[in-house]
Amino acid sequence: MTGWTRRQICGLAGGTLMAAAAPHVARGQSQPRVVVIGGGIGGATVARYLAGLKTLDVTLIEPNPNHVTCFFSNLYLAGLRSLASLTFDFEALAERHDVAVIQKAATAINPASKTVELQSGERLAYDRLVVSPGIAFKFGEIGGYDEATAEIMPHAWNAGAQSQVLRRQLETMEDGGVFVIAAPPNPFRCPPAPYERASLVAYYFKQFKPKSKILILDAKDTFSGQELFQDAWSRHYPGMIEWLPAQFIGKIEAVDARSCTVMTENETFKAAVANVIPAQKAGSIAERAGLADSTGWCPVDPATFESTLQPGIHVVGDAIIGGDMPKSAFSANSQAKACAFAVAASLTGSPRFPPHLFNSCYTFLAPDDAFTNAIIFAPEGGGIKTVKMFISKVGESAEVRRRTAHQAVGWYSAFTADVFG
Ligand SMILES: Cc1cc2nc3c(=O)[nH]c(=O)nc-3n(C[C@H](O)[C@H](O)[C@H](O)COP(=O)(O)OP(=O)(O)OC[C@H]3O[C@@H](n4cnc5c(N)ncnc54)[C@H](O)[C@@H]3O)c2cc1C
Repeated sequence: MTGWTRRQICGLAGGTLMAAAAPHVARGQSQPRVVVIGGGIGGATVARYLAGLKTLDVTLIEPNPNHVTCFFSNLYLAGLRSLASLTFDFEALAERHDVAVIQKAATAINPASKTVELQSGERLAYDRLVVSPGIAFKFGEIGGYDEATAEIMPHAWNAGAQSQVLRRQLETMEDGGVFVIAAPPNPFRCPPAPYERASLVAYYFKQFKPKSKILILDAKDTFSGQELFQDAWSRHYPGMIEWLPAQFIGKIEAVDARSCTVMTENETFKAAVANVIPAQKAGSIAERAGLADSTGWCPVDPATFESTLQPGIHVVGDAIIGGDMPKSAFSANSQAKACAFAVAASLTGSPRFPPHLFNSCYTFLAPDDAFTNAIIFAPEGGGIKTVKMFISKVGESAEVRRRTAHQAVGWYSAFTADVFG
């Protein structure tokens, strides 16, 4: 994971960066410059595909030395995958695909001067900017839940350190304890994931802590894949998982980290382990740069993913208002490819294509029982609409579900290779 050199820049190489007071310094090449903020799924894909065209100078800004995928992190929580197997560095992007990687956070965007400011105070000039900052949390919406509380009642909605905290808590929890999942309101990152989490943690409990229970306190009255989940819960984990919709419990109002309780409008719930997943919005750099509207998410042209608020800046991934497209890694990757072609067309005059937008997700109910969906989307009326959809059905044979779980593992390898090179 370490030791990458040529195109990795930690604020040092290549003449790309400039001191805050210095005039803009281009990289000394005549190629148009694209800067990408965020080395997660959307950002890494855009950088890789743009660099692959060999006609652009591509720089990726990401503060972390590697990316831990949220997808498959529920398998980690259940003890079925290591965190290392979900961790990707940027070496292949830098070495093989000639992307300049700067390991720093972007702190500001100046659309007038077309520059990005880094945490070090340096500025980076661009001809086109792509922003894929993922999500931020609306910490104010649940009383008592802030970044410090998240260390005690983890959301684990960004994978990595948060996932480790939650896994440790589940491991040390006594048999017979209650694991509370507070599920967020729409829209949020990966709609089936809180319920996949309940399923896989139930699988872990069934083996190691069979007297334990899982309580899902939901900010909603329905959820993605509901029939498939509820069918699986009664088959695999009878009596272990209880789902309480908003109409029964009322709004999730507050938490108390000391007593590990979650308070809703109508009731107080004591947890042995509490996984509180707050309401979400676009990553904070998008908000600061005026890319997000009053919903907290970023409106974009669905054909090019150019911001409708800040021309010349494109946004992809969870941060956008994606219409029918769910906030998923597959969506982010698909949007990123459409965006890369649109950016290239605007800078180099390469042909413009109508975007091909897809999503396909695999969701685990148990290690050998997974369901899947596959959806085709198209821009329509300024938004993104579903054109065609397939989803697994209740009542499929165990063999079909086993095959789907097996395919999911293959998808993970192929997909992460596509994103991180
Ligand atoms: C538990 C769980 C399970 C999931 N399972 C699936 C699944 O099975 N299938 C699926 O398709 N999706 C799944 N997802 C969703 C998927 O992980 C996200 O939709 C995807 O990661 C979104 O990509 P993104 O690029 O928008 O954001 P991210 O991948 O989060 O990337 C954002 C990046 O931006 C960086 N960043 C933020 N701010 C700055 C800044 N100021 N400067 C520089 N960099 C910055 C961050 O460090 C981060 O690396 C799951 C999510 C969760 C939580």
